[in-house]
Amino acid sequence: MDHAATTPMDERVWQVMAPYLREHYGNPATMYGPGRKASEAVERARGQLADLLGARPEEIYFTSGGTESDNWAIKGIAHAWEKKGRHLITTKIEHHAVLESCHFLEKRGWEVTVLPVDGDGLVDPEDVRRALRDDTVLVSVMHANNEIGTVEPIAEIGRILRERGVPFHTDAVQTVGKVPVAVDQLNVDLLSLSAHKFYGPKGVGALYVRRGVRLEPLLHGGGQERGRRASTHNVPGIVGLGAAAELAAGEMGAEEVELRRLAWLLWEGLRERIEGIRLNGHPEKRLPGNVNVCVQGAEGEAMLLCLDNNGVCVSSGSACTTGSLEPSHVLLAIGVSAEVAHGSLRFTLGKESTVEQVEHVLAVLPGIVARLREMNPLYARREGKGV
Ligand code: PLP
Repeated sequence: MDHAATTPMDERVWQVMAPYLREHYGNPATMYGPGRKASEAVERARGQLADLLGARPEEIYFTSGGTESDNWAIKGIAHAWEKKGRHLITTKIEHHAVLESCHFLEKRGWEVTVLPVDGDGLVDPEDVRRALRDDTVLVSVMHANNEIGTVEPIAEIGRILRERGVPFHTDAVQTVGKVPVAVDQLNVDLLSLSAHKFYGPKGVGALYVRRGVRLEPLLHGGGQERGRRASTHNVPGIVGLGAAAELAAGEMGAEEVELRRLAWLLWEGLRERIEGIRLNGHPEKRLPGNVNVCVQGAEGEAMLLCLDNNGVCVSSGSACTTGSLEPSHVLLAIGVSAEVAHGSLRFTLGKESTVEQVEHVLAVLPGIVARLREMNPLYARREGKGV
């Protein structure tokens, strides 16, 4: 139940990519037979991914994943447009791959406006319009949030930016392969994606770059990817990404319906069985398999570990870094208090999730919460149970 972290590779993806690990190991940059075979496979994958996004193949650049794509989009635009200005706009709920890239630039003289979101996690397109300046060179707003699942009004923001001629990047790592993502409908100029989030292999992704958009390379070296992204192609990974894209194009519609049904069963079941539980994120504009909750009086990591003991894998909104439990920046941005944020759990269902798995969570989690609340002196006192 943690498909937002990663997904199992689809057997059909594996079947297609496996021969490129050993048998067809040629370097696509070479001109003899095996090289040409590898190069053809890379170009086939480029076409498959372009079809999924409604893009042209020459607008797809293969990368090592979502993190590299985000870094490249932000630093690449910042450096290519430096003479026009040094102002960027992003939001409080972005993935750290975006936030830290912006922070990196900030330390080197760029200015970054970080927009707030409302209680459901939505960015107001009018806030974007108001934040624009003559020296704004990039706006980066994620398509859907990886923690709370809220889907942002990207097309509307894109319309505003198109009128003003400001490049627009979206991190679509959580949406590509799960819901329709069409670059022309979204009005974006750059879009990041990652194969392992939609049943493809890890360590491979892509950046969509609209034709004509100026972008400095992040990796310098050989002339791969039309001179814009050096390094020998990860041929098996790219083949896997292409196969995953083609499968998603054919199957994600039916998967989305089933995921929404399962997520609804899970949330309704939790709401009925656990008092003091709230759903985070927008009630409707959200990713199909995402159920993110805060449970009063129970600590997220404790729930996570107890669920793990019961064979259930989930995420919690507090990451134990350097010994202190940091509450999620996303939950804080939607107005959840640090205390409540510590009781958060994220369930993200996937295409092989079943009703039985949902029922198993509904059977074990209420007991886990009850036990943790009993051990929590602050909660017991507040509930008048005396300690
Ligand atoms: N952006 C978002 C929204 C994500 O959820 C993730 C992965 O968790 C990334 C970027 C990073 O992707 P990758 O794991 O491919 O580097």
